Amino acid sequence: MMLTIGRTVSGENTMRVSNNVVSGTHCKIFLDKKSNIMYIEDLGSTNGTYVNGVQVVRYALKVDDKILLGGEGGYATTLREILKYVEEQKSATQKVESNNNPQKQKAQEEHIYAEEFAQLKGFYDKYHKDTLEIKDKMGSLMMWRIIPTSILGVITAIVPFILDTPHMRKVVTLCSAIVTLVIFIVAFKITTKLSHKYNALLLERQEEFQLSYVCPKCRSDFGNRSWAALHNRGCCPTCKAKFK
Ligand SMILES: [Zn+2]
Repeated sequence: MMLTIGRTVSGENTMRVSNNVVSGTHCKIFLDKKSNIMYIEDLGSTNGTYVNGVQVVRYALKVDDKILLGGEGGYATTLREILKYVEEQKSATQKVESNNNPQKQKAQEEHIYAEEFAQLKGFYDKYHKDTLEIKDKMGSLMMWRIIPTSILGVITAIVPFILDTPHMRKVVTLCSAIVTLVIFIVAFKITTKLSHKYNALLLERQEEFQLSYVCPKCRSDFGNRSWAALHNRGCCPTCKAKFK
């Protein structure tokens, strides 16, 4: 899908908005097929494109993000409203076409989103695989925090058996305590840094997943619903678009 919005745009795949602060050709809305993410992109408009109150050049859209073209006093809308507009335009064109050609009518009645829905399986599987991998890595970070203290425990336990003089025992225990403390501090710093990195990665994957694991028609977020469950159901829980 690709749609241009502006004050003077015309033709197919365009949406005309009569508002003085909206530019002639203001922005476009398009679907990146590879990631299944819908973007809004400003086309060098005079007064800018805003999403949720922030000016953007290009932005990955969720269905209810607040879009404002031209800033204050501009044209406010959402992706949901834009999709509704596109759908209405499409059915109006189909109506004209099918009036001219009755045979076409039946074929156009209901689009089945089988191909688009099948693509979502890849996103679903990849997200869960990636999340598990990151969580595994986070789990092994904790190991690196436990190991230094365990080593100290082992050394303290065996020192009395292998060293004869109390003096040597004291020296060895003290030295190993210092070394362990240093290792512990270094390991703690590194693991904390890595754990922040993994947390950020998890959030990033989650955000990406929320943007791409959506209904091909109404773009409602499927949330935690598994792909298999949706496949069994055969339609979108929100708009009832058919998947098979
Ligand atoms: Zn839907």
